[in-house]
Amino acid sequence: ADIQSNYVNETNDDARIRRRIALSKAITLVESKSHTRRLMADTLLDRLRQSASLETTKGTASSFRIGVSGPPGVGKSTFLDAFGQYILSLKDDNDTASSLGNKSFIPDKVAVLCIDPSSRVTGGSILGDKTRMSNLSYHPRAYVRPSPSSGTLGGLGAYTFDAVSLCELAGYNMTVIETVGVGQSEVELAECCDLFLLLLAPGGGDELQGSKKGIVEVADVLVVNKADGDLEATARKTASEYKKAMGLLRKPVGWWGSDKDDNKCVVQSKSTQHVAPPVLLVSAKTGAGIPELFDTIVSYRKYAEQSGYLMEKRRKQNRYWMWKYLREKLMETTQQDERVKQKAQEIEYDLDNGLIAPRNAAGLLWGSIVE
Ligand code: GDP
Repeated sequence: ADIQSNYVNETNDDARIRRRIALSKAITLVESKSHTRRLMADTLLDRLRQSASLETTKGTASSFRIGVSGPPGVGKSTFLDAFGQYILSLKDDNDTASSLGNKSFIPDKVAVLCIDPSSRVTGGSILGDKTRMSNLSYHPRAYVRPSPSSGTLGGLGAYTFDAVSLCELAGYNMTVIETVGVGQSEVELAECCDLFLLLLAPGGGDELQGSKKGIVEVADVLVVNKADGDLEATARKTASEYKKAMGLLRKPVGWWGSDKDDNKCVVQSKSTQHVAPPVLLVSAKTGAGIPELFDTIVSYRKYAEQSGYLMEKRRKQNRYWMWKYLREKLMETTQQDERVKQKAQEIEYDLDNGLIAPRNAAGLLWGSIVE
């Protein structure tokens, strides 16, 4: 009940803290590796979803999910601290709200989930220190949570998607999922969010080569940070390099972006060939560029929703996560089943001695799973 009691103007500190604790406990539960706790998490998610659809669709239909990624040191936490506070200030500012055209796009409550891929190796989360996003985490309408990635297949924890749902069910109508830019995690981050924002440092234009290229391609908005002081000129140059490169990308029909002259939002249709992700400049330190970035995000939401792209994206994501859960369940079951483990050892022996081809070995092992 605490998780789901939606509120906007929370005045009672005790109740607010109680609700946050309930949300944190629920997230810990969905992340748990223990079998019993997982069953409890299944039940919890089911019940919450049922009562949400019975009582209100607030939190799911009106929510917005933003993925933020970028290399270490690019300024992700400084940026999210400033960005989150800016968004939360809008609700009280009617002038800004009306200039954005539609007040309903302005979130009441912002949740930030920080996913730390390194925690899989160290067993602990490096993001656990409270110094990150110190201003935002004390805001009464914000929830900041470092969350270790517990995925067994690399990248994001499969439970990140559940954590996002829980935040939404708790009334956070904007959820930001932050990851350190390390390849695989971005592709999965894109499957968790409505809009993927890639934060870039000034002077990193050559990152477009090699492995970074794939990451840039899944981004919906590119943001060059640290556009202040001595770095401003370099940041501008970097942004124009990215802009040029972005112009070459082809995005799916229904996707939103900016046109060739980069001054108008357009939806990708078959006839429109120059829709590219916008490249913006911000300074997380001074706050410059953050209102413009939020305007861009609001436009994205509006256009993506109207074109049907957003709902289609969410439908695909739900399916993506269903298959991902299945793969994880399958791997776990396989690795825990004594009979299958025994069989695997025998097959591995044959494999090591060149008696069987890997694909046939996989076939044999599969046979022992389903028999
Ligand atoms: P993260 O590792 O991506 O989360 O990066 P941090 O937010 O911890 O920032 C890394 C460093 O960059 C810190 O020393 C910040 O003070 C600095 N930084 C972050 N944003 C800006 C900015 O907009 N301008 C400048 N000049 N420095 C920044």
